[in-house]
Amino acid sequence: MQFQNTLAFAQKMDAEDELRKYRNEFHFPKMNGKEVIYFTGNSLGLQPKTSQKYIDEVMNDWKELAVEGHFHADKPWWDYHERLAAPLAKVVGANIEEVSVMNTLSVNLHLLMVSFYRPTTTRFKILCEEKAFPSDQYMLQSQVRFHGLDPNEAIIEIKKKEGENYWRTEEVLNKIEEIGDELALVLIGGVNYYNGQVFDMKTITKAGKSVGAFVGWDLAHAVGNVALRLHDWEVDFAAWCSYKYMNSGPGNASGIFVNKKYLGKDDIPRFEGWWGTKKETRFLMEPKFEPLDNADAWQISNPPVLSLAPYLASLQLFEDVGMKALIRKRDKIVAYLEYILNEIDKQVESSFEIITPIDRGCQLSVFLHGQGRPLFEYLMKNGVIADWREPNVIRLAPAPFYCSYEDMYRFGQILKDGILTKRA
Ligand SMILES: *Cc1c(COP(=O)(O)O)cnc(C)c1O
Repeated sequence: MQFQNTLAFAQKMDAEDELRKYRNEFHFPKMNGKEVIYFTGNSLGLQPKTSQKYIDEVMNDWKELAVEGHFHADKPWWDYHERLAAPLAKVVGANIEEVSVMNTLSVNLHLLMVSFYRPTTTRFKILCEEKAFPSDQYMLQSQVRFHGLDPNEAIIEIKKKEGENYWRTEEVLNKIEEIGDELALVLIGGVNYYNGQVFDMKTITKAGKSVGAFVGWDLAHAVGNVALRLHDWEVDFAAWCSYKYMNSGPGNASGIFVNKKYLGKDDIPRFEGWWGTKKETRFLMEPKFEPLDNADAWQISNPPVLSLAPYLASLQLFEDVGMKALIRKRDKIVAYLEYILNEIDKQVESSFEIITPIDRGCQLSVFLHGQGRPLFEYLMKNGVIADWREPNVIRLAPAPFYCSYEDMYRFGQILKDGILTKRA
């Protein structure tokens, strides 16, 4: 499609957008009386207008039913989390029984590593990407130390090639080959938070498993953003947070995926609690743990219902729209943003470059030459909410659920004014 950098063209794209009605399903912050241009759906998704209703429902049940709400609320609390599994399974490409919701992301990755990082004297290495999200680095280091090992020996990072901004799949595969039967675990962010790169999860999973390692994915920036087929790819485990592209609310609960082949087993190492044991016998308060035959076996505590309520609200929207349509619009709106950026770059003469590779989801990371921070602050003052990463990168994620083509056009105009103002 031939794009144009005009308001009329952007509005025409919006008029033809099959998802245009969803913009009105979200609350937009306002600045100077105008809705902001929101590029940080990769950090905290906007609030769906229905989420308040879901929370109020729980609050009301608590008010009117108190403890009876566990079993007699309209949506009983004791199995509230089960309502999230089916819509989530569609989003991540899993069987329903492979998905559960509990805790928060870093906590869940630790819990999953209890099951899937079990180093021996010969097989103890973990493969991850260099400069992984800090929490992931801390997780891996502390897991390794917990097992009495040295992070410098046990953690192997995949490097980018000198002068390149992205990881090559062949580098990952070469490393897997090289580490071979010393490799215990591959754990990588499926979509990198910094450059927006989508890893070839299918190929990497296959390679990791072929040398006998477990393969897990941190899907914080992937879920609700890119096509996932966790079951078909034979991924061992995965976890994601829900407050980024999933729009569930700040710090909200995390989803997990555990491959079917590990379900219903009572001999797998796992930290256990009462919500992971069979429902039929749970309230007999017997000492014996009998794991549920789905991923809920990893549930330790009773579900945080007030958090799950807005997550469920958001999942209804995902049910309604479906990942296919979201991805269709994502590709188009990201391409339009890229076009706008390149047009502005031409007009102001090369002042930035896009460092996101072509294997991308919703995010474009833009490396600014020169202006940097002052330009970012100009954008923020002028109604653009974006995200700054040191040393000189602005991350732009036009979430297809609620961002418009007109937003992209208007952003281009503000960016251009900003560059020219800061230069003057
Ligand atoms: C956002 C993000 C996290 C956040 O973890 P929490 O436990 O939810 O605070 C972890 N890892 C990655 C890769 C992320 O992008």
